[in-house]
Amino acid sequence: MDKPNAGYQDSLQTIIDFLPGGITMFNAEQQMVVCNQNFRTLLEFPDSLFADGLPTLRALALFNAERGEYGEYKEGGAQVIADQVCERARTRQPHVFERQRPNGTTLEIRGEPLPGGGWVSIYTDITERKRDEEALRRVKDMMSAAISFSPTFIWETDAAGNYTHLQGVEHILGFAESDLLGQQRGSTLCDPTHCDNCEVGRRMQARESIERLVVESRSKAGASVWLSTSAQPVFDQGGAYTGYRGVDVDVTEITLARQALEQIALHDTLTGLANRRKFQDRYELERLRQARLGLPLTLVLVDVDHFKQVNDTWGHIVGDVCLKAVANVLSSHLRTIDLVARFGGEEFLILLSDANLTEGALVAEKLRRALEGTVIETGLAAQPALQITASFGVTTLLPSEDLSLEAVIERADGAVYAAKHSGRNRVCSAESAVATV
Ligand code: GH3
Ligand code: MG
Ligand code: MG
Repeated sequence: MDKPNAGYQDSLQTIIDFLPGGITMFNAEQQMVVCNQNFRTLLEFPDSLFADGLPTLRALALFNAERGEYGEYKEGGAQVIADQVCERARTRQPHVFERQRPNGTTLEIRGEPLPGGGWVSIYTDITERKRDEEALRRVKDMMSAAISFSPTFIWETDAAGNYTHLQGVEHILGFAESDLLGQQRGSTLCDPTHCDNCEVGRRMQARESIERLVVESRSKAGASVWLSTSAQPVFDQGGAYTGYRGVDVDVTEITLARQALEQIALHDTLTGLANRRKFQDRYELERLRQARLGLPLTLVLVDVDHFKQVNDTWGHIVGDVCLKAVANVLSSHLRTIDLVARFGGEEFLILLSDANLTEGALVAEKLRRALEGTVIETGLAAQPALQITASFGVTTLLPSEDLSLEAVIERADGAVYAAKHSGRNRVCSAESAVATV
């Protein structure tokens, strides 16, 4: 092989000067034989060190030791340190290490032995990379802390909706991350009786973003856990859909508290029936539905007969027992789509969806008979059992009518009044105000 000529040497020097990092080559006698300008710049070596040609390792090491490059002077001074550096270099082990320079920069130094006893070293300024890594590590640590200190877990799925990444799920749902990876949300977190998670799945299929959608889920142990889910579809740089990224917050406590408050706010405490407010809301909804579909809507007002006498004779507690019994009879004889509410003291209101006046009167008659035939246990030794009756007023709201609830009740009240006057324990319809039994 030809010996490299001077032109070749020059080209080689140009190439190594062009390299982004520093590079040096030492021979077996620890004499530097090659170095580029970047090496001198990165290590801030003064030109004086190179005034008599390339320096030896020992000259460089001594200079470095004296300027504190290897840390504080140890016992024995710079000479000893320089000797140690040269001694280490003699072992000729390939190595990679990082050195924090006194000026704050971090260098990565890689050394590789060369055939013939020398070695080559490459110096890379990794200050920015270290800073980025540190910043990234801090963000990751902060995120991990935020996830573990709060009732939250984060996740990603692939385009098919299978989990590809999860963090923090175990402390919320008891599932290990590995239990869920590769699985669909709906197949693992669903409540078998009603699948709220399917709604999340449906929106994901439509690639909609999801904002605080509260869904009831199951923990690994089978407990009900309410999750507030927020998620967004993710697209790669080319615009291709790659899956979803989301966060779930455990809102079980607040959801149960809200449900309990709703129950209190919308229900009667004595009978557990809907209260006036719930009835009003439902009436508004049904009225809209009825107008849209052209269906009749029927209301039945129920007023217990001579209830004051029950109270006066047997006391308020027995009166309450009777009211509960009435509530039980009414609700147990109605369809689930109908709504019965306690409207006031001993008055109850029933909303019959899709029923006309005749059908409403038939339902009311069925209820009247059921109540009349109910034996109520009072718990009183003197009067262990009681039977009570009620008067029923039925009225129908035609699809063409646009009446407030108060106006409809007034009409039903007129029918109840008629029932009372024609002897009580009977059903009257508002139109005719004539007893049907
Ligand atoms: P009528 O047949 O004309 O309807 O006679 P009534 O006695 O049922 O009617 P009235 O309106 O005179 O009396 C209703 C009674 O209902 C008076 C009140 O003490 C009683 N009442 C109202 N709310 C409650 C309650 O929560 N518990 C009990 N025990 N009684 C109640
Ligand atoms: Mg009354
Ligand atoms: Mg009454």
